[in-house]
Amino acid sequence: MIQFTNVSKRYPGGHDALSNISFDMEKGAMAFLTGHSGAGKSTLLKLVALIERATRGQLFLDGENVTRISTRRIPYIRRKIGFIFQDHHLLFDRTVFDNVALPLVIAGYSHKEIGKRVRAALDKLGLLNKERAYPVTLSGGEAQRVGIARAVVNKPMLLLADEPTGNLDPDLSRDIMTLFGLFNDVGVSVLIASHDIALIEQMDYPVL
Ligand code: ADP
Repeated sequence: MIQFTNVSKRYPGGHDALSNISFDMEKGAMAFLTGHSGAGKSTLLKLVALIERATRGQLFLDGENVTRISTRRIPYIRRKIGFIFQDHHLLFDRTVFDNVALPLVIAGYSHKEIGKRVRAALDKLGLLNKERAYPVTLSGGEAQRVGIARAVVNKPMLLLADEPTGNLDPDLSRDIMTLFGLFNDVGVSVLIASHDIALIEQMDYPVL
């Protein structure tokens, strides 16, 4: 699903965030990406999502060499990916429904299809009763689940999560990780950046 060959990333200003990284993640796998703060976990996920571009090396996604892919093609590649942020990045002036619908609106789905898919995603995450709520009224765990619903609503083949439990207590964190496991059980590839070693050790997945 993801292949990095000798990938380096230098940010403008000369800072080497990643140097000479090689790894493979099989389709359908789930893995944790760990390391101290500043180790380059976010950078690695951003390279996979084509939010940042590599300075050196080769990147393959779902068998396609995306190292020098044109900016025009990026949105099409990105539809294969759902991204979950630590602080969920919800839009506060829109309801839960509208937040989750956003990727489908952008992709041009019909009104009817959007309703169907959004409700299916909200149902899966136990959020159907929150459809009309605004993000400020949600708990931290609920807001993170809305972020996950938005990431999976387009049925991506790959989920990337950047410290998804960084703001949650241990019980909620475990629930969220278990949820990722359920998506993985139905074939979605999942890569989760986390520095929560105690939590990672409770889960039986490979660690990068
Ligand atoms: P992590 O997610 O493991 O905490 P990051 O990928 O956020 O690590 O950061 C890796 C290194 O790259 C850090 O030293 C950070 O300061 C630097 N960095 C991250 N983003 C940028 C940026 N946009 N511009 C310059 N340096 C950056």
